[in-house]
Amino acid sequence: MDKEKGLVLKSTGSFYILRTQNGSTVNCKLRGKFRMQGIKTTNPIAVGDIVLFVRENQQDGLITEILPRKNFIYRKSVNLSKISHIIAANIDSAFLIISMTDPRTPLGFIDRFLVAAESFRIKTILVFNKIDLYDAELKQVQKRLENLYTNIGYTCISTSIVTDEGLDTLKSKIKNKVSLFSGQSGVGKSSIINCIEPDLQLKVSNISDYNSKGKHTTTFAEMFELSFGGFIIDTPGIKEFGLIHYKKEEISHYFPEMLELLPQCKFNNCTHTHEPGCAVKEAWQEGKIADSRYQNYLAIIHGEDIELKEWMLE
Ligand code: GDP
Ligand code: ZN
Repeated sequence: MDKEKGLVLKSTGSFYILRTQNGSTVNCKLRGKFRMQGIKTTNPIAVGDIVLFVRENQQDGLITEILPRKNFIYRKSVNLSKISHIIAANIDSAFLIISMTDPRTPLGFIDRFLVAAESFRIKTILVFNKIDLYDAELKQVQKRLENLYTNIGYTCISTSIVTDEGLDTLKSKIKNKVSLFSGQSGVGKSSIINCIEPDLQLKVSNISDYNSKGKHTTTFAEMFELSFGGFIIDTPGIKEFGLIHYKKEEISHYFPEMLELLPQCKFNNCTHTHEPGCAVKEAWQEGKIADSRYQNYLAIIHGEDIELKEWMLE
């Protein structure tokens, strides 16, 4: 039987929806003897995977093989600590939607996200949304943060779904790419996606929704094809990922401005805390590394996950 190539758009838990090379979709299960090598996961195949499949009929098929991944993101499976859950694969860039207000995204959230994305070798673009709501003071804070993150090497965009500002720029960056959209609930992720691609009509939450704590959604990530070319991966219900399995001395490798200085530290396994001859600490003392970045770095290596737990409660 002829094998065809497909892109996994959605996993329902029991079957996968694939986009075939001619743009149609087909529902597939895994072939019985399908095997995964490598990491232990709750799901062998995730959104963004490219697979080979054979058809059983026009609408259904069997996945026989997964092609090598360029990258993938995962998080620890909630109950089974050694097993991870792959969220998505083959991502070109991650877009972290943030807001200075209603709700305000904590810097700790941004830096943890960036560390996780770096560890998965995915570049992040920071999207400051709701700029129509920023007063003079918030605009200043935003400018300062934009400078901070631009200097480290991250692209920053500012957007508003009210004035449409920045949406064309955002569109040009996702065109013909596979883009992961992330952000705390309420920052406007669904609204932005709906503006970019009105046909999708993702559910936009009421302002009050994101304040209600305690819901635990296990929704799978989903991939949407864009009419102007490219794909968006939406991660509903996923507040955080990664930051597991890392050794203390590894974390600073995912802070680009620290990684750059590491060769100048006296010890190559420097954690930039107590060691003598530490170039990172020196740079921080001289104001060359932002205080917020260094403090968030310390919070991560010391496992101070208070903020992280709060997000998970959302
Ligand atoms: P999500 O949880 O990140 O998907 O956020 P939603 O898209 O559901 O938006 C949450 C709320 O913020 C909704 O009431 C939106 O109308 C509002 N919102 C989203 N983007 C903007 C924006 O750029 N400006 C303003 N003023 N409100 C926005
Ligand atoms: Zn050091």
